[in-house]
Amino acid sequence: MVFVRTTPPRPVQVTAAFPELAPLARPAIRLHPRPGSPSVRDSSVGGPLLWPAGEPWPHCEDVHLHVDTGFRESLTEVRLQRRLQSRWRPDDRYPAYTPEEAALRERAAARLAERIEASPPRPAECPVPLLPVAQLFLRDIPLLRPPGRADLLQVLWCPYEHEPHYKPSTALFWRSAAEVGDILATPPEPYEADYPGYVPEPCVLAPEAITEYPNSLDLSPELQRMLEDWSRWQAAGAGVDSSYARYPGEFYSTHLANAPGWKVGGWPPWGRTDPILRHCAVCGAQMVPLLTIASREWGGGEGHSWAPQEEKATALAGSRGPGQFPSQPTGVEVGSTDNMQIYVCPTSPEHPHTDLIQ
Ligand SMILES: [Zn+2]
Ligand SMILES: [Zn+2]
Repeated sequence: MVFVRTTPPRPVQVTAAFPELAPLARPAIRLHPRPGSPSVRDSSVGGPLLWPAGEPWPHCEDVHLHVDTGFRESLTEVRLQRRLQSRWRPDDRYPAYTPEEAALRERAAARLAERIEASPPRPAECPVPLLPVAQLFLRDIPLLRPPGRADLLQVLWCPYEHEPHYKPSTALFWRSAAEVGDILATPPEPYEADYPGYVPEPCVLAPEAITEYPNSLDLSPELQRMLEDWSRWQAAGAGVDSSYARYPGEFYSTHLANAPGWKVGGWPPWGRTDPILRHCAVCGAQMVPLLTIASREWGGGEGHSWAPQEEKATALAGSRGPGQFPSQPTGVEVGSTDNMQIYVCPTSPEHPHTDLIQ
């Protein structure tokens, strides 16, 4: 790993004030993805996968909506637009495409016109080659629990929306890195995505082990009431700003509970709905969070407290220009700046996974 990102210390040691929460502590690893050029041998988000040349690349054969979301764009267009935005500087004119980029755009547009002509209005391709979302080596993410001798998790998705929940469909592959001989050099790519936010930007990772506490919706009613009791916070001498006196539970949720951003393990984020228990389709065990695919690495306002120490100034400065948000380094956006949670069975990593957006 080439760089380090550090979550600032939480403003309060929550278990000192509320020892009742201690048994609920869970380990998590924040991934801190940042744009870069990961290789097939690196842990990454949106990077190239260590994929055996002799193994067929996975494709999605689901039925895709024929109706264009209105945001559907070719991967070429998404990447060219991001490249253009990255060249923007304050007090400068909006950058223009280079002749090479303009030619690439033209070719992508021509290919699209052909497809529309062949079968109007605009068919989603089928089968769709899956797109790499994350590659995680056990050496970097020791929280992973791979089956057998596997030491590498590869997560891919199909960047079209799927019924009934209108989200990309995910696929997980565990493998042993040592058993991969020849590597597939140029895997097939989907032609387009239903939303630009379904195209992860290649990112290197700076995994950081942290300890998390449950989202307040995951707490029992007794514990929720306890956190709303301002006198408990005062008695603990926690030094919490008195502006939270009326809603101390907010302080817990914003600063002390589950971390935002891409992570492995830990506690799930909730808010779109109340917590929904996930049960394994094979053995019925209660499933556990494996990976959070996040739209944002930290929230606005006081949510900045989760921005890494190394990036505090950038985080507070906010947008660097059109489409350039330091809190959205991966370019991924699911739902309305929500999170996609991938759950696995604790009994066997080979039982099918499940996912949901929160
Ligand atoms: Zn699909
Ligand atoms: Zn199971």
